[in-house]
Amino acid sequence: MVNVRIKDLVKRYGSNEVLRKINIEAHSGQLVCILGPSGSGKSTLLRIIAGLLKPDGGKVFFDDVDVTNLPPWKREVGFVFQNIALFPHMTVYDNIAFGLKIRKVPKSEIDKKVKEMLRLVKLEGYEKRRPNQLSGGQQQRVAIARALVIDPKVLLFDEPLGHLDAKLREELKFEIRRIQKETRKTAIYVTHDQSEAFAIADYIYILYNGRIEQGGTPIELYTNPQSPFIADFIGSSNFLEGIIKEVQRDKYLATIDIGPLVIKAKVRGDLDVNNSVIVAIRPEDIIVSRTKDHFQQTNMETMNVIEGRVIRKIFVGPYIRLEVDVGYKNPIKVDVYGEKRFKYMNLETGERIYLGFTRATVFKR
Ligand code: ADP
Ligand code: MG
Repeated sequence: MVNVRIKDLVKRYGSNEVLRKINIEAHSGQLVCILGPSGSGKSTLLRIIAGLLKPDGGKVFFDDVDVTNLPPWKREVGFVFQNIALFPHMTVYDNIAFGLKIRKVPKSEIDKKVKEMLRLVKLEGYEKRRPNQLSGGQQQRVAIARALVIDPKVLLFDEPLGHLDAKLREELKFEIRRIQKETRKTAIYVTHDQSEAFAIADYIYILYNGRIEQGGTPIELYTNPQSPFIADFIGSSNFLEGIIKEVQRDKYLATIDIGPLVIKAKVRGDLDVNNSVIVAIRPEDIIVSRTKDHFQQTNMETMNVIEGRVIRKIFVGPYIRLEVDVGYKNPIKVDVYGEKRFKYMNLETGERIYLGFTRATVFKR
């Protein structure tokens, strides 16, 4: 178990700076996700940690050892790639044994280790098969076993579920988490998929445009996004532009003019009257009702009730997505979950509806 620490890492391809002073840390035994859209620099970052690429600036530490200039084989990392990359002509056994053979480990020791790995990834009995006789998920289990057999200090995953179908992804992500916990390896796991990161990570760094936008646990990122980008990348949000008209300092309660609407919301201490702001409201935080009275019993100071008209209704399955015209330039997206979605299934286009919400995040524009 080691701590991995990345300090001020910079990487350029020609004049294109793809990593701009990245600072991240994965504590011993943690699974840390790097979450970012395609092209944000995730693979580049992981390849630098593995030693497959040289950075243009900054350092990589394993515990207190600076490994920035060590070649990959001296770093003792296990790497699992998206394109599974098993040796096609070798059996499962030989694929897993490969890293030990090139390290000239004695045969009996290899046999013991490979069997232990087969048990760990639940592929006992498959040792004689070749990769083309395995499902995608089984192939990826072999790749994980092959990465682990050398007892690496750090495990690196680059979108390991990318090529698998939805059901398999669902299953294998928890398997990866189980294996990582059982082996107590420090792991860095790269993905563009928020739900994947949320399901398995101890801690998540959001990478965007070569920078770490925010780091946090899943709950921190969801409930306290630091920028409109995060508020939309983690889950989704409605964005309304407005100007703060009044602030009750003792309560951090602001009244915000959104043009056709006025919204009350909690604001951070650095926001003040006349600031231009963006208000983010999550579709699942909005309650719908056909009557205004429905909201009257709530006397929370951040309660907002606005009237609108339904312009679109999409039955997604687990929820209904409504788009509601409230007089603002963009419609408001509202997600209705649970039993309630059957109650609102027959909403007509143009029908009047009331939206109630108490939770909104306010960003400076
Ligand atoms: P991600 O894994 O998040 O999709 P990458 O790390 O693969 O992102 O790429 C980040 C950026 O660097 C992209 O704009 C990509 O086009 C560019 N890039 C990646 N590899 C190279 C390379 N070998 N030469 C030039 N540009 C590259
Ligand atoms: Mg990539």
